[in-house]
Amino acid sequence: SKGAAMVTAVAYRLADQRRQITETLDEFRLTNDQLLEVKKRMRTEIQNGLGKKTHDSATVKMWPTYVRSTPDGSEKGDFLALDLGGTNFRVLLVKIRSGKRRTVEMHNKIYAIPMEVMQGTGEELFDHIVQCISDFLDYMGMKNTRLPLGFTFSFPCRQTSLDAGILVTWTKGFKATDCEGEDVVGLLREGIKRREFDLDVVAVVNDTVGTMMTCAYEEATCEVGLIAGTGSNACYMEEMRNIETVEGDVGRMCVNMEWGAFGDNGCLDDIRTEYDRAVDDLSLNPGKQRYEKMCSGMYLGEIVRNILIDLTKRGFLFRGQISETLKTRGIFETKFLSQIESDRLALLQVRSILQQLGLDSTCDDSIIVKEVCGTVSHRAAQLCGAGMAAVVDKIRENRGLDQMDITVGVDGTLYKLHPHFSGIMNQTVKELAPKCNVNFFLSEDGSGKGAALITAVGCRMFSHIK
Ligand code: BGC
Ligand code: MG
Repeated sequence: SKGAAMVTAVAYRLADQRRQITETLDEFRLTNDQLLEVKKRMRTEIQNGLGKKTHDSATVKMWPTYVRSTPDGSEKGDFLALDLGGTNFRVLLVKIRSGKRRTVEMHNKIYAIPMEVMQGTGEELFDHIVQCISDFLDYMGMKNTRLPLGFTFSFPCRQTSLDAGILVTWTKGFKATDCEGEDVVGLLREGIKRREFDLDVVAVVNDTVGTMMTCAYEEATCEVGLIAGTGSNACYMEEMRNIETVEGDVGRMCVNMEWGAFGDNGCLDDIRTEYDRAVDDLSLNPGKQRYEKMCSGMYLGEIVRNILIDLTKRGFLFRGQISETLKTRGIFETKFLSQIESDRLALLQVRSILQQLGLDSTCDDSIIVKEVCGTVSHRAAQLCGAGMAAVVDKIRENRGLDQMDITVGVDGTLYKLHPHFSGIMNQTVKELAPKCNVNFFLSEDGSGKGAALITAVGCRMFSHIK
């Protein structure tokens, strides 16, 4: 009959639609062999970054940090720390006590950095930062105290000492002028001078390094730091003999990998999708930080958004209507993705989250949106795990071990907030680096505390010299 034919036609259309959605998402599903290949390529890029002849053209830069040891518990004193480049900009006062009862006491305040300042002139940015320090000192009632300061600056820097770091390139949402190619400690000191007050900037620290140091303060086996947050990056203790860009062969030094740039030479092109390319093309730094754009909180929502737009155009979602909201960059922040993927959430609640974002969805829409989010974050966690597998296996080989236990200090909103990211990443490392027993240790407030610990080590070193 006619009715039966219509039902068949609808069923056929739905099945076809399902098949097309699945096909689209299949591009994001990586096989074990593909992940092993990613691990292998990361290893090659690590080697290129460390080698004297290959460093200049390398994409994963493996910058030396001049941090030569993890904390030993003798660090002490009061320090200021700045944390710039994560989800929040913060100023901190950190009081470290050594001896039998080691304690770290922290006070901090979060300050906003308006978009105009992030993307204005360098002088405006650093004036704003110094203004916040000054407000913080007022707030703590410490206006005229001169404290050593550790600057956690979570961007790629070419360091020539603990207290000098030349910004190579802005990443994430920053784009202030006149900073790239400049020593950011110098820019900070000039800002401080303009306000006519006194502070000793002792160290510039990448957030991965701060995270590793904070974790190592509690857990001596920690020699790796990982950030899975707004951006993505890792650091670890490498043998001096392998770091060909620094003189000397004795002992170890922490290297800031800047692995976010992995793939910038095209070596991940075979696994990037059209959606990854769209996100990259529309970003502040096209062609750069390609691995970061597949793995980190700032971009996962953008990948999701681009897939949703495409599925809507093809008539599979939102009744084929692309709303203004869906056209808005940055709407799917990590916290929304995390909520949408929460297992405890009923579909009705997913719909209400989408509603909050200004997206009218049907029940079928919400199922698809959740599936898209899950697929994108699953791949992110696996890719991050593949990178980490390369790192821990390198350390194991450095030490000539068949089996190795190691602790990785981790911080970042994606790791902390997302319901599945950490588990999938863990599992991936287990599968890809079976000879390493990796213990991930959440390093609460790692970047701020770590900057203070490094500053403490720095002060101890300098007082030796003096
Ligand atoms: C930066 C790294 C930083 C990471 C995590 C990246 O965009 O280049 O220096 O460690 O984000 O914050
Ligand atoms: Mg941070």
